[in-house]
Amino acid sequence: ENLIDQIAAGEVVERPASVVKELLENALDAGSRRVEIVTAGGGKSLLRISDDGCGIPVSELPLAIRRHCTSKMSGGLEAIDTLGFRGEALPSIGSVARLTLRSRARGTDGAHEIRVDNGVQDGPRPAPLSAGTMVEVRDLFHCVPARLKFLKSDRAESAAITETVKRIAIAFPAVRFELAGEDRTETVLAAGSPEARIAQIVGAEFIDNAVELDALREGVRLTGWAGLPTYHRGNAQHQYAYVNGRPVRDKMILSAIRGAYVDFVPRDRYPVCVLFFDVDPRDVDVNVHPAKADVRFRDPALVRGLIVGAIRQALGGMSL
Ligand code: ADP
Ligand code: MG
Repeated sequence: ENLIDQIAAGEVVERPASVVKELLENALDAGSRRVEIVTAGGGKSLLRISDDGCGIPVSELPLAIRRHCTSKMSGGLEAIDTLGFRGEALPSIGSVARLTLRSRARGTDGAHEIRVDNGVQDGPRPAPLSAGTMVEVRDLFHCVPARLKFLKSDRAESAAITETVKRIAIAFPAVRFELAGEDRTETVLAAGSPEARIAQIVGAEFIDNAVELDALREGVRLTGWAGLPTYHRGNAQHQYAYVNGRPVRDKMILSAIRGAYVDFVPRDRYPVCVLFFDVDPRDVDVNVHPAKADVRFRDPALVRGLIVGAIRQALGGMSL
């Protein structure tokens, strides 16, 4: 069973930043308003994520670390409206690290914790925590030396964690994020407006000059901001796309952005933009890969047309 979890872990957990992504998704699915992330050694020696969300009842702690057990997906696989749904993250992490899951369900008067080390469970037992959930991951891949070897320097892994937190944080401006640790300078993203969050992460120069998008086509809604054609970068890292709040990377979206700007931006440059798609969960498949960053729209041509149309119209309104 631990071997199966370790194999699943190979797909879900590639590096410390992928652990952070999964744990952040869980915190956000729990309705948290505040999430704190602490790292050490590039996240290899320590990752600790604390939230003020709904918590987990003690009776469900053992289920949370069991494979394919999920409290989500009440609407079925066709209608996923949470970030998580596969029930794989915690068991995968527990199979390749020392995992502590401590939680206090809202409305109950004590917290409990359960531990998993290399797949072996210990607890649940009472533990101190005033609210929400704390997940601690120590010594990631300590029992899988082959994977440890593929990790980059602490500095590089630490930077990847920061990037992951920022990318998700753009879609949740009402949530406060704190990122701290001995291996980094502290980042605090205060709760605020979408514009303020984007200003802090992408840059004030971008958002102050960007044109707001709001377009609808056959049930697919596109909102966000298209940057000035003069505001571009050397890679696609600063083209942010979200589907129902989930950061995605998708060739079609990138190519549609290129198409929209093709007359204004040199071919080797990437205009900065932030695109939020709201789609009926049944019109998009996020269950393409365990890491859930790939999407498949039911009607990609429609979405492509929506992107090109909305950005072109926005650019038309600018005095270029
Ligand atoms: P999934 O997110 O796909 O359901 P996970 O393995 O990530 O699977 O988590 C398993 C379960 O543990 C979740 O379905 C949820 O019920 C619970 N859980 C995990 N993290 C949290 C959290 N931070 N707050 C509340 N519940 C959580
Ligand atoms: Mg999850």
